[in-house]
Amino acid sequence: MVSAGTEDRCGGLPGVLDWPCFSLAEAGAVGPEADDRFMRLALEEARRAAAAGEVPVGAVVVLEGEVLGRAHNASVGLSDPTAHAEVLGLRHAAAKVGNYRLPGAALYVTVEPCAMCAGALLHARIARLIYGAADPKAGAVASVLRLLETPGLTHRVAVTAGLRGEECGALLRDFFQARRPAAG
Ligand code: ZN
Repeated sequence: MVSAGTEDRCGGLPGVLDWPCFSLAEAGAVGPEADDRFMRLALEEARRAAAAGEVPVGAVVVLEGEVLGRAHNASVGLSDPTAHAEVLGLRHAAAKVGNYRLPGAALYVTVEPCAMCAGALLHARIARLIYGAADPKAGAVASVLRLLETPGLTHRVAVTAGLRGEECGALLRDFFQARRPAAG
């Protein structure tokens, strides 16, 4: 089953001729049921992050229905400001296929990507981004910036926002509430 709006978003953009773009149908495993299944995997990753004392964000990279990469935030453990769930998930997936470009792939992440991660999605030529909760402080897809809609970009990403958003956001809220010192 293919959801509505399956147009090839790369089509018709000036100057976009030098690499193939993929329609959502080709992206594989699209449709509400598959999306929900993969978002639940991303949520599992987010819970692992919380258990490890990391900001609870999880990501899953899927190509043709197969999970190529899954990861959670690990910036604290790795002492690495770039170790966001999306970046680590993309690294796993790219290593698995032996190609830094993942055309046709979908990335599921529990929270709206930051500017770094939105940039990484573009570099990887991800076809679809599906995220849960909005990030009003650092979100670079719809909240603070709309990076993926920047005029002149030659790659377009189809975005689905708010999938299991309540659940994804609650993980974050609980995490930060537990860490906040009790008010006097
Ligand atoms: Zn990020």
